[in-house]
Amino acid sequence: MTIPTVTLNDGTSFPELGFGTYKLDGPDGVDAVVSAIRAGYRLLDTAVNYGNEAEVGEAVRRSGLDRDDLIVTTKIPGRDHGYDEAIASARGSLERLGLDRIDVLLIHWPNPSVDRYLDTWRGMIRLREDGLARTIGVSNFTEPMLTRLVDETGVVPAVNQVELHPYFPQAALRAFHAAHGIRTESWSPLARRSELLAEPVIGDVAREVEVTPTQAVLRWHVQLGSTPIPKSATPARQRENADLFGFTLTDEQMDAISALERGRLWGGDPDTHEEM
Ligand code: NAP
Repeated sequence: MTIPTVTLNDGTSFPELGFGTYKLDGPDGVDAVVSAIRAGYRLLDTAVNYGNEAEVGEAVRRSGLDRDDLIVTTKIPGRDHGYDEAIASARGSLERLGLDRIDVLLIHWPNPSVDRYLDTWRGMIRLREDGLARTIGVSNFTEPMLTRLVDETGVVPAVNQVELHPYFPQAALRAFHAAHGIRTESWSPLARRSELLAEPVIGDVAREVEVTPTQAVLRWHVQLGSTPIPKSATPARQRENADLFGFTLTDEQMDAISALERGRLWGGDPDTHEEM
């Protein structure tokens, strides 16, 4: 399965679908990531706070692919905010991953009450200059926070990874991203399964297009112009989730799915929710 790519604002190529690894750890976690790579995923999403960077690095080596064919994302946790702290954090990630370059480095949460994301960003700009991080971006940033980063440093994040699923389509933020050349990435794209896949409208669209409910939801992300990063520990589901590029949803089907909107599911408002 070949997953199409787009070009980020720094000129690098970025898949239209990636693989989430939260909760994939230990030997089973390595096996799950290797099987995802075999299923065609090239973008792997980890974080210091997932505690599985070593497993993801091991899977990269076990996959047998050229290092340059894979794109490994990791994230700087709240406790490592600050210029020097960000650089030290990325060096720690490189060590755990066993790699000499982080392909995509994100600020995991902005933690506005700490107010050190600007210095963190400056440290990441340095990491990029030094070749330790190829692409730099953010996660869970709001429009005013993105504006502040750009106004203060002149460097536009390449990616903003945010909560995005049919219950929370994030239309305004996506429009802002599109206007500023920031790629949207959807975390919890299946709303962690919950009741989303049983929604009658998802079932209707899936039947019309002759795909599974999960494929209908993930295709909705792709057509919104956002890269979903579904997690699955199950090889058959990993393959199912990657098989999105042989069908399209109509405008009506897209709108019907977006009409499920009801807001954030887990209270992760970046203005108030903070993670260390
Ligand atoms: P998700 O991908 O929306 O949902 C994962 C759940 O869906 C798992 O229980 C999985 O079960 C199930 N599933 C996957 N494919 C399925 C299929 N085809 N049919 C039925 N069930 C299926 O949730 P997530 O793991 O929270 O989010 C994805 C990734 O986003 C994370 O792994 C992480 O990398 C990232 N993330 C980032 C942030 C952030 O703050 N930046 C926050 C949350 C998540 P099985 O594994 O049992 O197959």
